[in-house]
Amino acid sequence: MTQFRQIDLKNKIKEKKLHLILDLDHTLLHSFNMENFGKDKMSEIFTTKDLQKNLFFFNEFNMVTKLRPFVFDFLKEANNLFQLWIYTMGTRDYAKRMAKLIDPDETLFGCRIISQEDCTIRGQKGLDVVYADEKTILIVDDTVSVWSNHLRNLINVNRFNFFGTSKYMKEREFEDYELSNVFYLLKKTHTMFFDPKIGTTEIIDRDVRDYLKLAVNEIFSNM
Ligand SMILES: [Mg+2]
Repeated sequence: MTQFRQIDLKNKIKEKKLHLILDLDHTLLHSFNMENFGKDKMSEIFTTKDLQKNLFFFNEFNMVTKLRPFVFDFLKEANNLFQLWIYTMGTRDYAKRMAKLIDPDETLFGCRIISQEDCTIRGQKGLDVVYADEKTILIVDDTVSVWSNHLRNLINVNRFNFFGTSKYMKEREFEDYELSNVFYLLKKTHTMFFDPKIGTTEIIDRDVRDYLKLAVNEIFSNM
């Protein structure tokens, strides 16, 4: 597998693409058990047209799923700079169903969907099941604790908790800019990584984790 990773590394540098691993729940979407809905929430959904955008009901699971604002733009733009992966602690069936929602044409993820059944360490997400060099991988996830061996690859996002708060959902619909903020950081990291003037090492020897740190520092120093 090491050899496979080395070949992939060379190809990625040539294509100017890195790897991006995306969590599903609370990162790209929020799935909620409808049994936990009060009547007021149901009526808010059915009487507010804005809330019905990117909302999907799965009666067989008693589940409703809301996609995070900007998710389609985020994926489309990120796909130009990264090879995209889904990595979820949910089951394979759930992962595939959600992939179909966010990637209806099946052009973004291919077979790069990792689910609970693939994990090798209980309660942890590891990069051992990702066929790519760790130096080329960035991760976007709302949960830090599952990535304890790969914290330097991680961009931790605020939880998208559309249904689970007492706040009116209508407010949540229009106040969540997390994916557009994350894309800004991803793009900056990608640009710096491939800029031959930044750093003294050859691009092939670079580690994206160093460049993520640089990009974060630069963004914060300009704030
Ligand atoms: Mg999550």
